[in-house]
Amino acid sequence: MSQLKIAVQKSGRLSEKSLALIVEAGISLNNSDRRLISRSSNFPIEILFLRDDDIPQYVADGVADIGIVGENVIYEKNSPIRVVEKLGFARCRLSLAISKSVEYTGINYFNGKKIATSYPKILGKYLLDNNIKAEIHEISGSVEIAPGIGLADSIFDIVSSGSTLISNGLQEVEIVMKSEAVIIGDLNLSVEKQKILDKLLFRIRSVQTARNHKYVVLNAPSNQVSKIIEIIPGMKSPTVVPLAKEGWVSIHSVLKENEFWDIIDKLQECGAEGILVMPIEKMVV
Ligand code: ATP
Ligand code: ZN
Repeated sequence: MSQLKIAVQKSGRLSEKSLALIVEAGISLNNSDRRLISRSSNFPIEILFLRDDDIPQYVADGVADIGIVGENVIYEKNSPIRVVEKLGFARCRLSLAISKSVEYTGINYFNGKKIATSYPKILGKYLLDNNIKAEIHEISGSVEIAPGIGLADSIFDIVSSGSTLISNGLQEVEIVMKSEAVIIGDLNLSVEKQKILDKLLFRIRSVQTARNHKYVVLNAPSNQVSKIIEIIPGMKSPTVVPLAKEGWVSIHSVLKENEFWDIIDKLQECGAEGILVMPIEKMVV
């Protein structure tokens, strides 16, 4: 029987969340101590642990069928692969930054400047698109210290909170692209492997959907039920069960995490009490 080979980062910012996603999809791993390969006893999958930069090429070559990488790596490598699914973690942006003591006047500032980066292709394309002629200085790590040691005037690098820039006396002046972790796939998967991938995606989506929702249970006066159902319509319709106390019911429903606080306020206005909100582990809609 065929096995789907998935490449994940061996150690770094993507590793733990990539593995957690696989484990939450109910896939048990025999040796998750990150030797080169790990197999599963209950799902036809094999995990290859690699450097993230190498993953797009391994997928393009068919050594791995799918992989988990940041979008920034895909666009830098430009390998012939497809993006199968966005995963919503490792969110960051690729930005241009200059010394905070310089007043930024716009993109033309970069004309004739020297920019240090680990992403020369993405930067090169951006400069070309904006008709800027600058010198790209490629370095593989610690890009943020380049201006301080006189290696470059400015940098193009990954930013998330911006605190690394601040502690190096830099200011972010242009956001060039946003990135998050994605599943990439080989362009030519066999029918059998595509079936395994579809099964895996179904499970991953159930985990993701569950994360974005909460299960809510509350008590309310019976005469408020129709109002409350409008506020928390649930997946099909809420469950309403009578309480032992006359004139009261318990309502069970599901709500979106990002609507949570607004909805709780409205529920209280309708006389809801004893509101319990619980995480959902898996959710199939
Ligand atoms: P490797 O040793 O595998 O080459 P790396 O040093 O290139 O690792 P990491 O720093 O582990 O890579 O980052 C992996 C990915 O995580 C990046 O490509 C990017 O998509 C994302 N990422 C990097 N820095 C951050 C950050 N500060 N916040 C959120 N996501 C980030
Ligand atoms: Zn890397």
